[in-house]
Amino acid sequence: MSGSDSLPATPSAMPWIGMPCAALESCMATEGLSPTHARTLFRLLHRELDPRPQDSPAALPPLRRWLATRPWVQEPVISVASEVASSDGLTRKFLLRLADGQTVETVLMGFTGRHTACVSTQAGCAMGCVFCATGQMGFVRNLTSAEIVAQVHHVQAALRASGQGELRNLVLMGMGEPLNNYDTVMTALEILCDRRGVNLGPSRITISTVGVVPGIRRMARERCPYPLAVSLHGSTDEERSALIPAGRRWPLAELLEACRKYTVATGHRIFVEWTLIDGCNDSAEHAVRLGALLQGIPSHVNLIPLNPTDAFKGAATGSSAAQAFQRVLREAGIPSTLRQRRGIDVAAGCGQLRAERIAA
Ligand code: SAH
Ligand code: SF4
Repeated sequence: MSGSDSLPATPSAMPWIGMPCAALESCMATEGLSPTHARTLFRLLHRELDPRPQDSPAALPPLRRWLATRPWVQEPVISVASEVASSDGLTRKFLLRLADGQTVETVLMGFTGRHTACVSTQAGCAMGCVFCATGQMGFVRNLTSAEIVAQVHHVQAALRASGQGELRNLVLMGMGEPLNNYDTVMTALEILCDRRGVNLGPSRITISTVGVVPGIRRMARERCPYPLAVSLHGSTDEERSALIPAGRRWPLAELLEACRKYTVATGHRIFVEWTLIDGCNDSAEHAVRLGALLQGIPSHVNLIPLNPTDAFKGAATGSSAAQAFQRVLREAGIPSTLRQRRGIDVAAGCGQLRAERIAA
């Protein structure tokens, strides 16, 4: 939260679920409510996911009275525009409408009892990666912390409603570049890790970046507790920049040095994302160069066969070539995982998220 100590008077600006508990406490204190009331409200909003906290028996009379004068507290930050389930039965994609009519996509993936939410941090993205549907649509705006938290609440509620337990894992791999919306993302994650609320473990939250070097350096400086995934996709600056324009701004040498410092400062390894594109970045020579780049940096490579998008012609690498790529990495001492393809039929795979604007 910024330093403001009073709650905004208009519903549209009301950041209820976008406020960490301590900020809610100090704001409500200025209106004469004790920290206990603020904590009760925080718990009702974030743990119980109660859409009408003013009616809850857990809210004592002063809190109820206070909430009664704020009827907009029940107005949801997001509403569901549509939901599709993948034919594999393991992926659900939600198209969520924001108060200004923008929409973002949130994905729930269920792998053998382990559920992961994949949330968006921006509507659109300014980075323009050629193979990514979000990059192809361009930048619309940053999401607020309330809008990021609300996506997780939505997934949590969907899991509970289908009797599948609680959410444990979160990846910031939906629409947008998280490190271009740094402060807001960190506020949202602080709220989501609060034990009185959703109570996610910081080590189960992965932030994925296209390679925004100042953001990675800041994560290292702040000893950020969240695992970091960095999208490389190319083993030379030329090759990488052809796919990711940001590669021109932050060359590989600078990016990998920032990654190395992050591993030293935080004690975490780095996850490297590598989208496998047939005949483009999937040869044994590419794997040898990638292995050489990662020497001395504790890392794990996630190989993602390209998912189809409208404006990019490339095709996914086949499974035998992908396994050969993995073998070369293994010989170089670099562990890797070949990602399973999920949700492709409903365009919920990595890089396929592209929301349409829906009139409010
Ligand atoms: N902006 C961040 C996080 C969102 S993208 C980033 O770029 O890292 C999440 C991951 O999906 C990134 O590794 C990205 O490179 C990858 N991706 C994008 N488009 C893809 C596609 N069409 N097929 C496979 N992976 C893709
Ligand atoms: Fe943005 Fe990531 Fe897509 Fe690149 S891959 S356009 S950074 S969302």
